[in-house]
Amino acid sequence: MTPATASKTDALLAEVDQYSAHNYHPLPVVLERGEGVWVWDVDGKRYMDMLSGYSALNQGHRHPAIVAAAKAQLDALTLTSRAFHNDQMGPFLKELCEATGFERALPMNTGAEAVETAIKMIRKWGYEVKGVAPGQAEIIVCENNFHGRTTTIVGFSTEEQYKDGFGPFTPGFKVIPYGDAKALEAAITKNTVGFLFEPLQGEGGVVVPPEGFIKRARELCTQHKVALMADEIQTGLGRTGRLFCCDWESVRPDVLIVGKALGGGLYPVSAAIADEEFMGVFRPGDHGSTFGGNPLGAAIGRASLRVVLDEKLSERSAELGAWFMQKLREIDSPHVQEVRGKGLMIGVVIKDSSGPARPFCEALDEKGVLAKETHHQVIRFAPPLTITQEELEFALEQATEVLSA
Ligand SMILES: *Cc1c(COP(=O)(O)O)cnc(C)c1O
Repeated sequence: MTPATASKTDALLAEVDQYSAHNYHPLPVVLERGEGVWVWDVDGKRYMDMLSGYSALNQGHRHPAIVAAAKAQLDALTLTSRAFHNDQMGPFLKELCEATGFERALPMNTGAEAVETAIKMIRKWGYEVKGVAPGQAEIIVCENNFHGRTTTIVGFSTEEQYKDGFGPFTPGFKVIPYGDAKALEAAITKNTVGFLFEPLQGEGGVVVPPEGFIKRARELCTQHKVALMADEIQTGLGRTGRLFCCDWESVRPDVLIVGKALGGGLYPVSAAIADEEFMGVFRPGDHGSTFGGNPLGAAIGRASLRVVLDEKLSERSAELGAWFMQKLREIDSPHVQEVRGKGLMIGVVIKDSSGPARPFCEALDEKGVLAKETHHQVIRFAPPLTITQEELEFALEQATEVLSA
């Protein structure tokens, strides 16, 4: 292809190939515009977004209420640092605490920072409140976890590639099989301060734990004075058909970690949320972030949360997710091993004998449905929660063609 006839897409792909670090393997689609569940590439082709920025776009692309809040705040004040107060952070944290039923929230930016915040909080709580000997605090985590990409967090990942070449790692973490309450009980010692888990593993391949696991984990943590730390960065804010995935088992964690959709797809906004018993260990100077709690992020966070609540996105997700999952299960396909998930967080597991999930994702992309494989064998369907049934029917038609071929 000569430069004159090459598509815009090809030119932009070549540019990113030359200048970007090669730390991702994206599908070869270059997007320039988005609205609701739809995105358009630089050559004008329209796609349905079935990934939603790994669930950072639960409210859809450029939700008008969130965009309006951001624009208004851009014209007022964007950054103060925490050296001063701003008029958005207080209302944001109040609304976040009221929506989640906790006493305090500590605002950060990315999910990984909120996880790090929770780890620091619970370690310090372990020393100051539980009375663990200095330097001995242990946090239990699960196999196949995904909590972010910092050196501490990848240190307790069980995915070799996430860790390879990045050590040495932070000690103080113990790994148990996901969903195994007996293993959790056996792993708890007098030094255990927290159990950090995802109520449904997203990056791990849309893995649903056995029913009752979250409840049992809650009981064990209460019994042994261990903080239950729920990473709801991906599962939260309506994604699984409840406001939080722990709500499926009526469990209130001790630390709730949120991010992704809290920024409505506009801006990174995250938080660690807990009662004063835990949050009280932080004193001035202990922890911080230059951008955490900034007025632009806070205004966006307020609007993002309001959209989730006002538009009843959890209920939509429960209803449409159940319907879509049923329809996916009805596809007569030689390739599908299992369809699993909760709400609009759905994984279609491809049989090993049919090869990896990636070619199926590429075929879907061809048909105008953007889906990305997770964990080699799983196609993830996680559209914006604002999606309509008609729009899901379009996705279903394409999925049916690709999976029954
Ligand atoms: C995405 C994700 C994170 C990390 O969030 P970043 O904003 O990418 O740092 C942590 N935990 C879970 C469960 C996630 O899905």
